[in-house]
Amino acid sequence: MNDTKPAPGNAATPAQVRIFDTTLRDGEQSPGCSMTPRQKVVMARALAGLGVDVIETGFPASSESDREAARLIAREVRTPVLAVLSRCLPADIEASARALDGAARPRLHVFISTSALHREHKLRMSKAQVLDTAAACVAQARGFVDDVEFSTEDGTRTEREFLAEVVGAAIAAGATTINVPDTLGYTTPEEMRALFAHLIATVPGAREVVFSAHCHDDLGMAVANSLAAIEGGARQVECTINGIGERAGNCAMEELVMALKVRGAWYNADTGIDTRQLVPASKLLSRLVGMPVQRNKAVVGANAFAHESGIHQHGMLRHRGTYEIMNPEDVGWPASKMVLGRHSGRAAVSHRLRALGYTLGEGQLDQAFAGFKALCERQRVVEDRDLEALMHGDIRGDGFRLASMTVSDRGQRASAEIELSDPDGRSIGKRALGDGPVDALFSALAAATGVDLQLESYQVHSVGIGADARGEANLSVRCGDDAWEGTGTSTDVIEASALAWLDIANRVLRARQLQPQRQAAHA
Ligand code: MN
Repeated sequence: MNDTKPAPGNAATPAQVRIFDTTLRDGEQSPGCSMTPRQKVVMARALAGLGVDVIETGFPASSESDREAARLIAREVRTPVLAVLSRCLPADIEASARALDGAARPRLHVFISTSALHREHKLRMSKAQVLDTAAACVAQARGFVDDVEFSTEDGTRTEREFLAEVVGAAIAAGATTINVPDTLGYTTPEEMRALFAHLIATVPGAREVVFSAHCHDDLGMAVANSLAAIEGGARQVECTINGIGERAGNCAMEELVMALKVRGAWYNADTGIDTRQLVPASKLLSRLVGMPVQRNKAVVGANAFAHESGIHQHGMLRHRGTYEIMNPEDVGWPASKMVLGRHSGRAAVSHRLRALGYTLGEGQLDQAFAGFKALCERQRVVEDRDLEALMHGDIRGDGFRLASMTVSDRGQRASAEIELSDPDGRSIGKRALGDGPVDALFSALAAATGVDLQLESYQVHSVGIGADARGEANLSVRCGDDAWEGTGTSTDVIEASALAWLDIANRVLRARQLQPQRQAAHA
C-alpha cells in the first residue's frame, strides 16, 4: 500500500484549505431543513466553535427571515468571515450589503449561471451579456466590501473556454475568491481535478485569488469531487454539516475534513477545523431541523464506530487499528460519560452542553444552568435528551405552543380537548373524537393549527431510569409531497406525542411561509 505521494509542487508545509460552511444557506433551503433566525444563530455559534473559516448565513434577497438571520449573526459571531449570497442583480447586492452591516469580516458572494442550458432557458442571455453582468456585479459588490466571492452556477457543465473567460472577467473586476460549483452533482473526480488545474494555470490573475469548489451529491461523489478539486489547486471547499443541501445534498464537512486529516500525507493539505466538535455540531443540526442522521453515515452516524461481528470485536480488543482508521474521541464521540444531577456544577453542565453542540455565552449559561437546576428538582438524573429539550424549548422560536390538554377514552370513542397559543399569543381551544386517545389528540391538533399531517409511523419509548423516566414520542409523517420527522419529550407519553406533532406542524408552517418568497427570488 502506498500511503503517500509527492505533493503538487513538493510543498514542505501542507496547504491550508479554507472551510466555507453553507449549512445555513444551501442546507437550510432544502426541504424539511428550514430554521428560524434564532436557530440559525445557535448553529452559527457552533460553526464558529468548529473553526470554520467562512459561514454563509443566507440569501438576504430571498426572505425577511434570511435578512434577520444575517443581521443577528453579524452582531453575535465575530471570528469567521460571514458571507451572504446574491444573484447578479443590483437590488439583491444592495440588500446583501445592508444585511452584513456591522459584520466584523463581511463577504459578498455573487453568482450567475454560465452553462449553455442555463443561459438559454433560465437567464435568456447571450454569452456576452453573462460576461458583462458578471463583471458589473462583482464591481458593484467591491464598492461595498473588499472580500468578494464570485460563483459560476452550473460551472462544471459550462464550455471550458467560456468558463475561463467569465472567471477572468470576474478576477479583473475585483473578485477575491472564485467558486466553480458542480451545481447538479454531475462531474467526476478526474474531471474536477483537471478543470481546476486548467483554470488556475491559464486564467490571467488566477494565482492571485483563492479557487473554491461547491459540489452536490447527486451521484454520491460530492466529497470525492471536492477532494479532487483540492488536488487541482482549490484552496476553499464549500460544505455543510451532515451533508444537508439541495436534493441529495452538499459535500459533507465531517467527511471532507476527516479525509484530509486521516490521509494528510496523501493530500498534503489540512483545515483549521477542531475535529472534536464534528459530532456535537452534527447532533445539534439534526436536533434543530428535526432530520435524523442515517446510522451508517461516515464519521457522525451512530454505527460509524460500532463493531458488531465477533471477528471485528476480537481484532479491536487486540489492537484498535485492526478495524478503525480514526479514534471516535477525535471526532467528538464521548469516551465516557459523567452523570449529571443535583450535585453537578456549572462547569459540568457547560461541558456537557458543549458536547451537545451548544456554545453559550455567560448570560446564556446562567439561564441554562437555572433551567438545569429546576429540572433536578423533578428528577434524579438529567440525561442528554433532557438538556437538549431544555435548550430546544428555549430556541424553538415562534409557533404554536401547547397550553393544556385533557384526553379521555371512556365510553365508545376517545376524546381530546386541547388549548394552544398561536404564534401571536392568542389562545385556541379544540375538541375532537377519535378511535383512540392519540387519534383524537392528533385530530384536535389538526383542527386547531390547520395543518394536515398523514401519520406514517409512531413510536413511543421511555428514556431515563425508574421514577425519573420520561416518555419520548417519535413521529414520521407526510404533508403533501414532503416527509417530516418530529420528536417530543415529556413525563407523560400522550403529552410527548402532542409535542412531537406540534414540532412538525410548526416547521411545516415555517417552510410554507418561506417558500413563496424564495420561489420569487429564484425566478
Ligand atoms: Mn448549491
